[in-house]
Amino acid sequence: MTTLTAERGASGTDSRDHVPLLDALRDAIGAAYVLTDAQDLATRLVEDRGLRSGTAIALLRPGSTEEVATCLRLCQTAKVPVTPQGGNTGLAGGGVPDGGIILTTDRLNRIRQVDPTNATMTVEAGCILANIQAAADEVDALFPLSLASEGSCQIGGNLSTNAGGTAVLRYGNTRDLVLGVEVVLPDGRVLNDLNGLRKNNTGYDLKNLFIGAEGTLGIITAAVIKLFPKPTARATALVACTGPDPALALYARMRSQTADTLSTFEYIDRLGLQMVVDHAPGCSDPMVEVHPAYCLIELTGNGAQADLDARLEGALEAAFEAEEIIDAVIGASEAQKDALWALRENLSEAQKPEGASIKHDVSVPVSRVADFIKVATQACMDHMPGLRPCPFGHFGDGNLHFNLSRPVDMADADFLAEYGAFNRIVHDIVHEMGGSFSAEHGIGTFKRAELRRYKDPVALELMEQLKAVLDPGQMLNPGKVL
Ligand code: FAD
Ligand code: ZN
Repeated sequence: MTTLTAERGASGTDSRDHVPLLDALRDAIGAAYVLTDAQDLATRLVEDRGLRSGTAIALLRPGSTEEVATCLRLCQTAKVPVTPQGGNTGLAGGGVPDGGIILTTDRLNRIRQVDPTNATMTVEAGCILANIQAAADEVDALFPLSLASEGSCQIGGNLSTNAGGTAVLRYGNTRDLVLGVEVVLPDGRVLNDLNGLRKNNTGYDLKNLFIGAEGTLGIITAAVIKLFPKPTARATALVACTGPDPALALYARMRSQTADTLSTFEYIDRLGLQMVVDHAPGCSDPMVEVHPAYCLIELTGNGAQADLDARLEGALEAAFEAEEIIDAVIGASEAQKDALWALRENLSEAQKPEGASIKHDVSVPVSRVADFIKVATQACMDHMPGLRPCPFGHFGDGNLHFNLSRPVDMADADFLAEYGAFNRIVHDIVHEMGGSFSAEHGIGTFKRAELRRYKDPVALELMEQLKAVLDPGQMLNPGKVL
C-alpha cells in the first residue's frame, strides 16, 4: 500500500530516498513485513515512559535468522542504520530510533528446543519472557528471570540489557542465565555460538560481548538459556523496620540463617508503600501501624513447605528480638503471598499519579546500601526542601531505584529542570561509594554523558575499539551507549 505517510515515512523521515532499499527488503522478507505507515510505527518511535521519541523510515519484521542477516546486509550496503527492538520496554531510550530502520524480533518467537536433562532451552530472541517462564514450567523447571515487564519484554531485549529483576539475589542477572547465543553481525555474518555447554574454554567469551551491548554490536537472534529445579515451596513476608540500617542488619541475618533459600530481599520506603496503597487498585497496607520502611522477603526451596515456613519464622523471631524489625506479616496462603508481592510490583506505576519523578537506577556494594540511602536522601533534601524521596528496590543486590517525587506543590516542568542537578548529586555519591550509576537498565541514550563522566577511561577506549571492529560503519544503533 502506498500512502502519503508511506512516501513521507513516519514522523516526517522521507522514505522516498530509500525506495531501492525498501524494494529489496520487501523482496527479501515479504512486503507485509516492511512497514512504513505512520500508524504501524507510532508506538515503536517512543520509549516506554514517553520521555524520548525518534523517527524511522520503516519497521522490519524478519521471520528468521537468515532474514535478519539479509536485512542487515542490505541496510549496510545502502548505509542506512538499524535500531533493534524487542518489547520496547527498556528504560534507557536504547530502542528509540534516530532515523534509519527499526528491526523488531517479534516474529522470531519460537522455542527451538527444550532439553530437560541438560537443563537448557534454546529460544529465539522475540520470545516474550512470560512465555519462556511458562514453557519452563511445563517441563517442571524454572527460568528465574522475573521483571514487572515480563508480559511484554522479549528475551532478546533482556539479553541486550542484561536485565536484573527480583531473583538476582539467588540466580544472578540475565548474563548468568545464558550459555550460548546466535548473533547477526552488522555486515550480515551470523555468529553461531549457540552451545549449551557448562564448560567450554575455547578462547574469548564472545557471547558476553553481546549481552548488555544494547544492540550496538549485533542483533541477538537466539540463545541457550539455563533452567533450574522448580521450587516446591515459597515463604513470603513483608516486614517493617525503622530505617535502612536495621534493614541491612536484617539482610545479613537472613543471608546467614536462611542460606541459599533466600531469593528476594526488596526494600520499600513508607512513601512508596503509601503511593501503592493510594493508587494501585486492590492494594492495601497489610499492617495496622504506619512504619518508616519495609522489606519484602521470600525464601524458595525444594523441601517441605513447613520446613521453609519454620526457617522464615525462626529468622524473623530472632530479628524481632534484635530489634531489626518492628512488625511483620507472613503470607499464609498463595493469594496472600501474591498480595504482598503486588505491593512491590505496583511501585513504579503508583508513582505516576504523584507527578513528575526523577529516577536513578544505582548500585553500591551491599554493605554500603544503608549508608547510600541515608546520605543520598539527605543530600537531595538539602538541594530541594519538600522533595519526596522514594527509594525502593533490590536491596539484597545493592541495587536501588532511588526515585525522587516532586514536592507536592511544584510544577512538573520546574522539577524536571533539576534532573541534571539531582543526577550529579546522586551519581557522585554512588561513585564515591564504589558503585554504578546504571545497575540494571543500561545506558541507551539517557546515560551516555554519565558513562563518559564515570567510566574508567581505558574501559571506554576499549569499548570504542570493539565497536569499531564489529561495526566500523556505525550501522547498528548509532548514538546509543557510546
Ligand atoms: P527493548 O526495550 O526493545 O530494547 C532494549 C535495548 O536492547 C535497546 O537498546 C534495543 O536496541 C536492544 N535490543 C532489543 N532486542 C535486541 C536484540 N534481539 N538484539 C540486540 N539488541 C536488542 N529492567 C530490569 O533490568 N529489571 C527490572 O526489574 C525491570 N523492571 C521493569 C518494569 C517495568 C514496568 C518496565 C516498563 C521496565 C522494566 N525494566 C526492568 C526494563 C526493561 O523491561 C528491560 O530492560 C528489558 O530487558 C527490555 O526488554 P525489551 O524486549 O523490552 O527490550
Ligand atoms: Zn529493578
